[in-house]
Amino acid sequence: MPDTAPRQVIIIGSGPSGYTAAVYAARANLQPLVFEGSVTAGGALMNTTEVENFPGFRDGIMGPALMDEMRAQAERFGAELVPDDVVEVDLTGDVKVVKTATGTHTARAVILATGSGYRKLGLPREDALSGRGVSWCATCDGFFFREQHIAVVGGGDSAIEEATFLTRFGSKVSLIVRRDELRASKIMQDRAFADPKLEIEWNTVVEEIHGEDRLEGLTLKDTVTGETRRMDATGLFIAIGHDPRSELLRGQVDLDPNGYVVVEHPSTGTNLPGVFAAGDLVDHHYRQAITAAGTGCAAALDAERFLAALD
Ligand code: FAD
Repeated sequence: MPDTAPRQVIIIGSGPSGYTAAVYAARANLQPLVFEGSVTAGGALMNTTEVENFPGFRDGIMGPALMDEMRAQAERFGAELVPDDVVEVDLTGDVKVVKTATGTHTARAVILATGSGYRKLGLPREDALSGRGVSWCATCDGFFFREQHIAVVGGGDSAIEEATFLTRFGSKVSLIVRRDELRASKIMQDRAFADPKLEIEWNTVVEEIHGEDRLEGLTLKDTVTGETRRMDATGLFIAIGHDPRSELLRGQVDLDPNGYVVVEHPSTGTNLPGVFAAGDLVDHHYRQAITAAGTGCAAALDAERFLAALD
């Protein structure tokens, strides 16, 4: 255990929710310690290009630039930012214990903001073309694909929701489904079948993603015959699910059956006093930068009020 007194608040995570919580906590004079993670400090938006729907930027802003601004804003008010991964926590007592590879830290309140990871296809050009034709979010990026041929991968409710939404923009939307049936609910299936701009490619998987600077096309493989063919789509939306980064929290904080942290809406409080959660770690419904920032703000205000009540 460290021999220093516990901090007021530790924030775990550095996406829009973590940095927004850091801005609010720092401006409330709580001197937050923020563990940003060692690989992707800045969170999911570090993997994208233009962000056009974060209010305040009429011409849009590049994802990494937006996150740099949030980071600098938190630092300006005195947040201490550390690019380390938290590897273990004990959040059950009055003093919360947070461990990294290099040290043990304590605080009276903790904000959890570790986000969620979109599932990937695991194909070679997938990461390189993220934000350059390959996307995981139709709400975020659909607008960029007006009058283009868009492919969507997945067979569940969210894949169909993404695909039908994208028919507003694309000249044509191809839904690529691994099997000969959809996992989606009946109502979503009916919506898909009724949409004249949506074509379903049954028994099909994406085998290769092509393009240097932008997506230029896909190689598709028929899962029954093994035959391959080219599809000249310029947009690829991957809608095969996402996983909350809650592994650390198992056995401590209440999680729902899919691993998302359960909070007492409308607050950000978890089942443990002094432990708050925000962003995509909680939210599997909206999953936007602005909603993550909004709940990050709420978590900092909840932590501030919790700490004030202790004094
Ligand atoms: P994240 O942004 O995922 O951040 C979580 C952070 O926690 C990460 O930095 C991670 O490294 C860190 N972390 C995780 N585990 C640990 C640990 N153990 N220790 C320390 N740190 C840890 N939304 C929009 O509104 N507009 C868009 O245009 C848009 N485009 C997108 C494009 C892409 C390619 C993707 C993937 C998402 C996009 N989104 C967009 C969605 C948006 O990025 C997310 O909703 C938002 O980033 C969620 O914020 P968050 O703070 O909850 O989590």
